[in-house]
Amino acid sequence: MPKQAKLNRIKAFRSYTIQEAAHIAGVSDHTIHNWGKNGLRMMDAAQPTLIRGDDLRDYIKAQRSKRKSPTEPDTFYCVVCKRPRHAAANMADCTIIGNRATLTALCTICETVVSKPVAKANVTSLARTLDLTIKRHETTL
Ligand SMILES: [Zn+2]
Repeated sequence: MPKQAKLNRIKAFRSYTIQEAAHIAGVSDHTIHNWGKNGLRMMDAAQPTLIRGDDLRDYIKAQRSKRKSPTEPDTFYCVVCKRPRHAAANMADCTIIGNRATLTALCTICETVVSKPVAKANVTSLARTLDLTIKRHETTL
């Protein structure tokens, strides 16, 4: 899995050298050069090459959203298949703790355990499409 670049320290109105950009994004200089070849805008008419903070942020955000695979309410993202999958036998366990619910199931293709958080309010509608085994845990202090 690629290392997650850090977005929140990058200042939009600053320009960074390749080394500074690499340091602040938490990646290697080599990664920044690769991003440049892959579409990250760089000001390389003068030396040193500079990268605008907002360009760097936009590039990282665009790469993140490309990697995202949205799942339907009754599907789960399988980390082995690297795509959304249905639950094996359409069965899932639903663990409710306070206002949070987590669905756990097996990938229908590779049988890896898959899970996802869902809003407690959506559990009733999910129970129409999935065979849910609901476990409630009361929060105790
Ligand atoms: Zn799978």
